[in-house]
Amino acid sequence: MLLSIVIPVLNEAQTIPLMVSRLRDTLDGLMWEVIFVDDGSTDQTWSILERAAFDDPRVKLLRFSRNFGHQAAVTAGLDFAHGDAVVVMDADLQDPPELLPRMVDLFRQGYDVVSPKRISREEETRFKRWTAKLFYRILSRMADQPLTPDVGDFRLFSRRAVLAIRTLREQHRYMRGIAGWLGLREAIIPFERRGRAAGNTSYTFFRMLRFAWTGVSSFSAFPLRISIAAGCILSFAGFLYLSRVVYLALFTTALVPGWASVVALQCAFSGMILLALGAIGDYVARTYEETKNRPLYVVTECSNLPLPQRALTRAVILAEPDPMSVIAMDDADRLSSGAEDPLSYHHPLAGMRV
Ligand code: UDP
Ligand code: MG
Repeated sequence: MLLSIVIPVLNEAQTIPLMVSRLRDTLDGLMWEVIFVDDGSTDQTWSILERAAFDDPRVKLLRFSRNFGHQAAVTAGLDFAHGDAVVVMDADLQDPPELLPRMVDLFRQGYDVVSPKRISREEETRFKRWTAKLFYRILSRMADQPLTPDVGDFRLFSRRAVLAIRTLREQHRYMRGIAGWLGLREAIIPFERRGRAAGNTSYTFFRMLRFAWTGVSSFSAFPLRISIAAGCILSFAGFLYLSRVVYLALFTTALVPGWASVVALQCAFSGMILLALGAIGDYVARTYEETKNRPLYVVTECSNLPLPQRALTRAVILAEPDPMSVIAMDDADRLSSGAEDPLSYHHPLAGMRV
């Protein structure tokens, strides 16, 4: 069995050597490959990766032309992975490699998705822990498919789960939602999330907020419908009040007081209308971006990796093929799965090449 590990990296020069040696230690006895996807790093990351790939052919590299984002890097890694099982993890050792043998055991027991669930988060601020908890609870209520709370992108997927994920080529990707959307058999194991081994998180507060909104808008149309409920309630209240005012004006001598209340209500309702418009605008913008059908990423270099023989949809591969790696990889594939031609696999669900 071949285990692929997909690691998106953005400016992780300090953590890569640590990561590779920890993988070597923990995966001793297993057949494995690690695919680092350099998502437009601007520090020494690429040269450190090249050195690691030169030293060990199991270290495979993809390089993006620019920063396409964490989720795009994960997608590229999954597109190029050959393993019978594929694990996605962070480069910063927040997701402990020591958990991999247990995840592989569960995969061998027949689970398609193995999800380590964070039971504690070391070194994260109380604010981040609290907002993350709240977000997962809200999203799992809103989303059309169930979502496992407190599970990040650190996950193991079986080969057939990866084949299914490859058919989803949306631009605004939320892998955590996609994993739930698959509906395959999932095992959950608790783990304690450590702090970063080095460097800083690239998810600032606003990036987290944007990512959270991608999660909501990719998996739920609920925000579009909130305004329907709010609109119904408010119009009902408005008409009740109106009938009272008409009654007072026609049948009594009472004056209807208060421009202040009118202004306050006007402000509140305009705000709500603008919010609803903004939400609708955002969905329209995302639909517009999706209809452009642009590629999800551009690969300019790869190392120790053969180019896929199948056509990759919504991906641009500008890297030159490396004949040595084609031979090496074919051997690895034959050893691992016994498949005749694992690179051109006919997807059982879609009946098309993926
Ligand atoms: N990452 C990436 N592209 C980005 C942002 C992050 O490839 O645009 C990588 C990063 O190097 C790390 C992983 O994605 O390996 C998760 O990022 P990070 O550790 O900064 O996020 P956190 O764990 O703090 O949520
Ligand atoms: Mg991290």
